[in-house]
Amino acid sequence: DRPICASLPVLGKDVTVPLVTGGEVAYAALDYAASAPALQRVWDDVAAYAPYYGSVHRGAGYLSQLSTDLFESSRRTVAEFLGCRADDQVVFTRSTTDSLNLLAAALPADCEVFVFETEHHASLLPWRDARVTCLDAPRTPGQAVESLERALVGRRPNGPALVCVTGASNVTGELWPVRELAAAAHAHGARIVLDAAQLAPHHPVDITELDVDWAAFSGHKLYAPFGSGVLAGRADWLQDAEPYLAGGGASRKVARRTDGGVDVEWHTTAARHEAGSPNVIGVYSIASACKALTEAGFGTLVAREQHLVSVVRAGLAEVPEVRVLSLFGDDAPRVGVISFVVEGWNSSHFAAALSAEYGIGVRDGLFCAHPLVRTLLGGEARDPGECGAPESEPGEKSLNAIRVSFGAGTPDEHVERFVRAVK
Ligand code: PMP
Repeated sequence: DRPICASLPVLGKDVTVPLVTGGEVAYAALDYAASAPALQRVWDDVAAYAPYYGSVHRGAGYLSQLSTDLFESSRRTVAEFLGCRADDQVVFTRSTTDSLNLLAAALPADCEVFVFETEHHASLLPWRDARVTCLDAPRTPGQAVESLERALVGRRPNGPALVCVTGASNVTGELWPVRELAAAAHAHGARIVLDAAQLAPHHPVDITELDVDWAAFSGHKLYAPFGSGVLAGRADWLQDAEPYLAGGGASRKVARRTDGGVDVEWHTTAARHEAGSPNVIGVYSIASACKALTEAGFGTLVAREQHLVSVVRAGLAEVPEVRVLSLFGDDAPRVGVISFVVEGWNSSHFAAALSAEYGIGVRDGLFCAHPLVRTLLGGEARDPGECGAPESEPGEKSLNAIRVSFGAGTPDEHVERFVRAVK
């Protein structure tokens, strides 16, 4: 019954924060967009499997067979969760960042890539070996589609091209017009990959229905924080590419040549890009989360989350110093991710005070989306992670932002406390 406390350094002083009181989690972790807490079902499934863990694909023993079975059935569960087409591949990776780097490494020669400047760095930066066109931040979903169409019209005809777009922004939480962008990409002979890191935990993502070529997401944002991610979609570019990692598991046949070299025949299945012993628990936990979310029903989850979004929006709207960041306007549909600045406040100090004085964990900074936050803040922005918490005087423009994010399992009390604290 004694409160469990953490001692946290806040503005140079150690402050004691209650984390658990009377058996209840007292600390309101409202930072789901960074990493979401594991669902109980995920903990339970992982705990039940852990004693039977064995290496996959190679062992003759019972535990290896069981683990291989769970690993491969997890692939089918994820394919179903994402509404994959029959010939799509599901590749297990470490994260969304890893998935998009894998795809970047698999681009055909001379591929052009189109991205908006609004992307998370994980979808903005991996394409550096390709010819990249970075598009201005649109101010409506319609503008996003028009801007992409204009750019694609001007592209090299018949060459391979890829569009990379996020489904829900990790800064504003706003939903992007994925279906329309996919239609525009395909109309101009380009492919499209969906960064579903922030979309998949909050909304159903159906690759077939959205008609995207690939989708990527991370387990730790989908309530499965055990170090795995997913890249799912078209097999052809993946099959034709050099393996992402070279090693055991990716190779079907390896032979020493008489001239001293080594010949390799690589797999053409997802295994081609999964060399080395895979993270079975990470993969199994993703499948467990997919099942739990499907069983809970996205209809129920979305309705509950939208209730929390409206509580936060209404609360913030009552504070004149607060400016909520948005590209598409205040009424644009969004997931439970909301960033804002408070006039006269340094965002880092504000976030530290929410933690130390109210037991609320949010994030401050530029959220690995520097160009977007710079646009939203109207020019200058600095990341506290890189150069220390930027000092600003009362009344000065904030150089970074505060982000509150939540999802499945967030109690009303946490967002109500957040609103009270901001007020
Ligand atoms: N894309 C988006 C939209 C994200 O929010 C994030 C994580 N903040 C990533 C990609 C990268 O995810 P990870 O760090 O799990 O690789």
